[in-house]
Amino acid sequence: MKCQCASKLISQQLDSKLKPQEKMALSLHLLICPRCRHFQRNNQKLQGILKQYCSKDS
Ligand SMILES: [Zn+2]
Repeated sequence: MKCQCASKLISQQLDSKLKPQEKMALSLHLLICPRCRHFQRNNQKLQGILKQYCSKDS
């Protein structure tokens, strides 16, 4: 899997849109790729901040 593909899956993962085999392939890639692990961490952090922000408004 290429990093470009992995980062796409990471964004979809945050919306829980991944198929089981995509999740599997992604976690395998994350094992071998520190860059994408970092990307995923940042994404999750951002998502958490956005969620907090939105729940404040509603
Ligand atoms: Zn990667």
